[in-house]
Amino acid sequence: MRPIQMVDLNQQYLNIKNEVDTAMLSVLNSSLFIGGPQVYTFAKSLSQYLDIKHVIPCANGTDALQIAMMALGLQPGDEVITPSFTYIATTEVMALLRLKPVFVDVDKSTFCIDPAAIKKAITPKTKAIVPVHLYGHAADMEAIRAIAREHDLFVIEDNAQAIGSDYFFSNNTQIKTGTIGTIGCTSFFPSKNLGCYGDGGAMFTNDDALAEKLKMVANHGQKIRYYHDIVGCNSRLDAIQAAVLNVKLPLLDKYIAARTIVADRYDAAFKNNPRITTPYRADYCSHVFHQYTLILENDNDAAGYRDGLHKFLEENAVPSMIYYPVPAHRQKMFEAFGGGDYELPVTDWLTQRVISLPIHTEMDDDQQDYIIEKVLEYINR
Ligand SMILES: *Cc1c(COP(=O)(O)O)cnc(C)c1O
Repeated sequence: MRPIQMVDLNQQYLNIKNEVDTAMLSVLNSSLFIGGPQVYTFAKSLSQYLDIKHVIPCANGTDALQIAMMALGLQPGDEVITPSFTYIATTEVMALLRLKPVFVDVDKSTFCIDPAAIKKAITPKTKAIVPVHLYGHAADMEAIRAIAREHDLFVIEDNAQAIGSDYFFSNNTQIKTGTIGTIGCTSFFPSKNLGCYGDGGAMFTNDDALAEKLKMVANHGQKIRYYHDIVGCNSRLDAIQAAVLNVKLPLLDKYIAARTIVADRYDAAFKNNPRITTPYRADYCSHVFHQYTLILENDNDAAGYRDGLHKFLEENAVPSMIYYPVPAHRQKMFEAFGGGDYELPVTDWLTQRVISLPIHTEMDDDQQDYIIEKVLEYINR
């Protein structure tokens, strides 16, 4: 059995080595390292895949979120409603821009921002909502879009973990996550479902004027070279990363299918266990399983029980991860933003109980059987 990894990037590379090497070499031979046809082609292909008018590539997913907030003209003190149960990048950029992150609770089954909690958090200063499609499962965008329309708020979707997920509205329309709100943001960090071999990110929108603004902000605030109209930054996807993404984008649906097979096998193995809750899949979206995250139930000391499984798996050469051990509102970073004042019981409850198991596109059945065996060995002992 090959060693088990959370994500087996090497095995995935070996399966597409010829195509990736050729694409990378073509960039080296062209010496077009910044911009150029690879970046242009990728942006175009991704906009076709997502069925959205504009894809603006940038340097990473964190930049994508920051540039989105800058392009929307959010000002210091503006309130932005966000889950606390997310990767730090989502909320960090708000602090960086001196916006006020307003942390709200998540839904216990989807792990995503709770629309009822959003409603309660709206004030006259609220300007935007940032839902995160955590672990590859979409937030309840139909409800969130309705709230945003009613209160005239921007919606910035953090789609870093859910690229490729389909969203089904009750009127039977179907679109990709990340194309529902005002702006969608994503990351091409290597371990993401569509990952490059370094850093990368992108923003999506259907709004022509906003697309121009996003491009300007990402490019030193200029539309015409050396004429800088607004304050921007320098955030680019480089050509080598775009070349990798041009090879991998056509494989994304296949990769999602491979992840789903792994998720289905885990589900079947764990579904009847009273101590384990397998990931919920709402009817309104297709789960793309960036992570396969269990909730562990134990009468007392839930966190200790969960941490015990993490340690037991580690001792048996099975990696697992706690995404994330500290929610944003409990991070020191946010003390000055009143982080400690929030009461988010579902977020705290989940933080003590979640554990993510290895899931990737190259998982062998014998590897997965071993992981399942070890999880059940711990749970049933
Ligand atoms: C990965 C990730 C980001 C940030 O992406 P980077 O490319 O690492 O900057 C933002 N939000 C979420 C939810 C992520 O998972």
